[in-house]
Amino acid sequence: MKRRDLLAAGSAAALAGCSAGPDQGSGETRSQERFTWRIVTTWPPNFPGLGTGVNTLARYVEEMSAGRLRIRVYAAGELIPAFEVFDAVSRGTAEMGHGAAYYWRGKTEAAQFFAAMPFGLNAHEMNGWLYYGGGLDLWREIYEPFNLIPFPAGNTGVQTGGWFNKPIESVADLRGLKMRIPGIGGEVLKLAGGTPVNLPGSEIFTSLQTGAIDAAEWVGPYNDVAAGLHQAARYYYYPGWQEPGPTLECIVNKGAWEQLPEDLQAIVRVACQAVNQDMTAEFMARNAQALEQLEQDESVEVRAFPDDVLAELKRLTLQVVESLAADDPTVARVWDSYRQFLQQSERWQRISEQAYLETRR
Ligand code: CA
Repeated sequence: MKRRDLLAAGSAAALAGCSAGPDQGSGETRSQERFTWRIVTTWPPNFPGLGTGVNTLARYVEEMSAGRLRIRVYAAGELIPAFEVFDAVSRGTAEMGHGAAYYWRGKTEAAQFFAAMPFGLNAHEMNGWLYYGGGLDLWREIYEPFNLIPFPAGNTGVQTGGWFNKPIESVADLRGLKMRIPGIGGEVLKLAGGTPVNLPGSEIFTSLQTGAIDAAEWVGPYNDVAAGLHQAARYYYYPGWQEPGPTLECIVNKGAWEQLPEDLQAIVRVACQAVNQDMTAEFMARNAQALEQLEQDESVEVRAFPDDVLAELKRLTLQVVESLAADDPTVARVWDSYRQFLQQSERWQRISEQAYLETRR
């Protein structure tokens, strides 16, 4: 194992406060049995950051287990289509999957909170809520009936608001807008008079370029440039109100999980946590580089959403979430936990990150 990877695994184990690691595990739970798993993903093949993060996850597991658990990575469409990942892992067609929980709102509306909520928690806060604020316990409980065990496994950090083929100067400009925007953000756009569309990453460029859609949010400068979106639309808006820090998920089939010895279970858990941290670091570095490139591109205009547009989107977000919570007691429970964490964090963030960033202006 490379020293760099040992360090990554060690720091992740320390962060996890992991007590069931192989060093502490009892000798009798360690077997020499070998496993080959498949992980199906919602990402295009080797997609920068998201897809490559899954390759990293597979490599960490293989290295830490000395090859006792190998994971073969399948991009969207290679084994199954992107949006069948949840079902495929649920029924055991694949042992693992990687994607974002808001893709599965058709299974359970509450899933969306474990990916991203418009005007909600950012990446640091998502980690705080999931690992130390009860969020992950709720997530496990909600996926349990689907035969799935979820792990946070990646976060892009705050995204951008997306690419538009016309300027957005007022709330009225959102009316009639056909936009690729998943999850609750899409519901909010609908209330604002637009038409949300959910497309996998591989289909966004063509849809935007041909005019099948008027706008698309994807991730941020790093991924958007890689997908060529800057060549499909002119106006690039910020901030990504719709996804302030989406957590990506690794889901594991419960039956497959139970067949793993304890030390391999610990390796999977810690590898997910290491990737969760690693991806955030990569996005921080690469988004900044790609933004510099976009700012020098004369065919692109990087713009802030007007304040009144953001205020209206925020008002509509609350309306969507309150309505979901009124209809679904599970959403109500998750929203209650999420909102309490958000309100508490808000006060701390104001005098820490926010106050500090203001000093650097
Ligand atoms: Ca997005």
